[in-house]
Formats: sequence, C-alpha cells, structure tokens
Amino acid sequence: MASTINSSYQRHESEIDKLLYSGASNWIAAKTIAAKYPDEKIDSSNLLKAINRRYPVSKTTQHTEQKKTSSSSFAALKTELGLHENTFGLPEPLDDEIKVHTLPVADNKILLLSDVHIPFHNIPALTAALKVGVDRGVNTIYINGDGIDFYGISRFEKEKRLRSLKNEIDQFREFIGIINSLFPLARRYYKLGNHCARWDSYIRQNAKEFEDIEDFAFANVMRLNQTEWNIIGDRDFAKAGKLHILHGHELAQAVSPVNPARGVYLKAMQSTIVAHHHRTSEHSGKNIGGDFITCWSTGCLSQLRPKYNPLASYNHGFAIIEVERDGDFHVENKRIDNGKVY
Ligand SMILES: [Zn+2]
Repeated sequence: MASTINSSYQRHESEIDKLLYSGASNWIAAKTIAAKYPDEKIDSSNLLKAINRRYPVSKTTQHTEQKKTSSSSFAALKTELGLHENTFGLPEPLDDEIKVHTLPVADNKILLLSDVHIPFHNIPALTAALKVGVDRGVNTIYINGDGIDFYGISRFEKEKRLRSLKNEIDQFREFIGIINSLFPLARRYYKLGNHCARWDSYIRQNAKEFEDIEDFAFANVMRLNQTEWNIIGDRDFAKAGKLHILHGHELAQAVSPVNPARGVYLKAMQSTIVAHHHRTSEHSGKNIGGDFITCWSTGCLSQLRPKYNPLASYNHGFAIIEVERDGDFHVENKRIDNGKVY
C-alpha cells in the first residue's frame, strides 16, 4: 500500500537521514528502522523502496553496500539508536534530555534567519535577507530563534504603547504568511529562542491549567502547525550535516562578549552556528586530532539600538548554509549594512 510506505518513511525521515549520514546504506537504514519499531510492523523492503526513491543508488553500489552489512555493524547501529535491552528491569526514567534534530539530507540549501524580534524588526535588513534567499533558490528556511519579541508578556516593566500582545502575534502571523508565500516549496523550521520561550513561561506562571491544552501551544497560536513548520524546542537544536545550529541561549554565560563565536567554540568544541548575540563573528581552530572546527554567530534582523541597550554593538545579518551528502558544509555568514548585503 503506497500510503503506508510513504507514511512510515515520512514518520521516520529524520532518523533515516541520521543513519545515512552515519554511513549506513539505504538497505541497512530500512532494516534498522523496521527493527526499532516492531509495533508498526514496517515491511523493510517497502521502506527500502521509499528510501531508494528519495536517494537513488546505482546497481553496483547497492550490491557492495549490502555486502557490508555485517552483524557487528548492525549491532553498533542498534546501540546508537538506543535499542539496548533493560537487562535488570530498572525503572523507566522520565525523559528530560534535549533532542537533536538532524535535518534531512535533501534540506541542503538553507536560509538561516534569526532575531527578527517582531514587532521591533528592521524592514530593510529583513527585505535584503529574504531577497538573497529567493535569488539563491534556497530549499530550506530555518528561523533560528526570536522571530517574535513577546515584549507584551516579558517579566520586565512595559510601556503602554508597546505592550499589545495581540499586535505582536498578528504581525508575526503576517510575517510567517509572507515567508510561506515567498518559499512555497521550501522545508521550514522554527527554532524557539529565549524570547519565544516567554510564551510557555507566561502560561506556567499565570495560567498553568492551560499548559497541556494543545490550542494554547506556541506553534498553534502562531499558526505554524497549519503551514507545515517543523518546531525545534527551546533547549533542543538541529544539525545540518556536521554543523550544529543553536539559537545561542542554550550555552548561557559560556559565551564571551568580545567574540561570541570564540565563546561558542570553547563550549561546543565542534562546528556550530548560533544567533542570539545579534553580532556577526567567526572563530576557527584545530583540535588535537587535527580536525578543523569553525564557529559562527549571525547578525540580527531587528532594530540595532533598542532602549534596553542603546550602545549595543549589534549588526544586521543572516547566513546561507549549503550541505553536501557526506555532511560537509559551507557557511556564508552575511552582514547587512543599511540594507546592503556583504
Ligand atoms: Zn535570543
């Protein structure tokens, strides 16, 4: 049944991609997913067909790849996917770990925008960034946090003329509508930054009874669920190939004010791009094994001299990320000055 093949493929797409990134063949990816979800009774050969349709392999590759599938490599993949057994029947723990979303291999030309802080956005900067995305024909939009400011529900003192929550939400929905129509075919991701997290924290503090009511969830109120956005949680992050993508608040105080990218480098110790600092910066180095690592921070798309920090050395910016099938990647960390992209 075609719909079943597609649905099991779609349901496990990010895991399938993770397997492919880690060097598994299409065949072993199908087998592993079928083994991991016995309740779903996935037919691995049907799943393989779905994977092959998306990632075609030549006849010869298929043959050699199948030969590589020894029982030991299968065991290693099982461990990596957490298929281990609970030998001593230990009590099941509560799950409080972060999730890492591996972007599908096909999402390989990404427009990375962040810190729009609606309704304090900057129209020339945002326009310039979106224009580059359109011109370059990106297939993925990744809003890396703080698309909305949520001034109206912050815990700080608020000016009356600025504090309309309704206005913030209306403008944000309009902005999302514009992105949807500019990039109708692109895959879309929305990562919750520290400002976005104000939504949940407001509900927990002021209306905790609403916490588990779906209609009040951030993505639903913001209409992101209705227009096919993938949501990356406040503490979770994503990987595009070998590049980690974080908003930046997850690393907290670790990051130096002088060069945000260097602070991220010292903390993450792997190639990482963050937003949150509203400043473009880059830092590279090699680890003891000779691996070349680079970290970046991107500029913002909001106003540069907000009242809470008038002398901030903020700059406008965004990034274009291209990812190869083996996970290698290319980052263009763009700065914008007076609406012009550098
Ligand atoms: Zn932030």
